[in-house]
Amino acid sequence: MTSRLLLVDDLREQIAREARAAFPRECCGLIEGDALRVAALHPARNISEDADRFEIDPADHFRALRMARANGRAIIGCYHSHPNGRAEPSARDGDGEDGFLWLIAAISGDAVSLTAFQRLGYGWQSLAIAPQPAENAA
Ligand SMILES: [Zn+2]
Repeated sequence: MTSRLLLVDDLREQIAREARAAFPRECCGLIEGDALRVAALHPARNISEDADRFEIDPADHFRALRMARANGRAIIGCYHSHPNGRAEPSARDGDGEDGFLWLIAAISGDAVSLTAFQRLGYGWQSLAIAPQPAENAA
């Protein structure tokens, strides 16, 4: 069974807005939450000099870690956009610890589609995105 990442529609729409605003560059940010639940997003400056990649500003990263800790949560992943429309991790994606979540906002025309992955030792695990927990988990 595919694991589900819980992401409410408001936060999902926030990522899509940021992806459109950053176009043709990549937006980026960090995900605050617990287990597989997104509680908050922390937009970050993309300090990459290249348009087709992202590098989170270390000051923004530090601020996000501090805010998450103050909320009793952790930074469980990151998000960024793919202005080229590819809805899967690129060869450059994947830095960071095992279990880190990656949300990718692929832009195609006016549409922004969001996909979720978890970085595991052997590669990428695809996650389903759901706005709320399943009614009947059994
Ligand atoms: Zn990427």
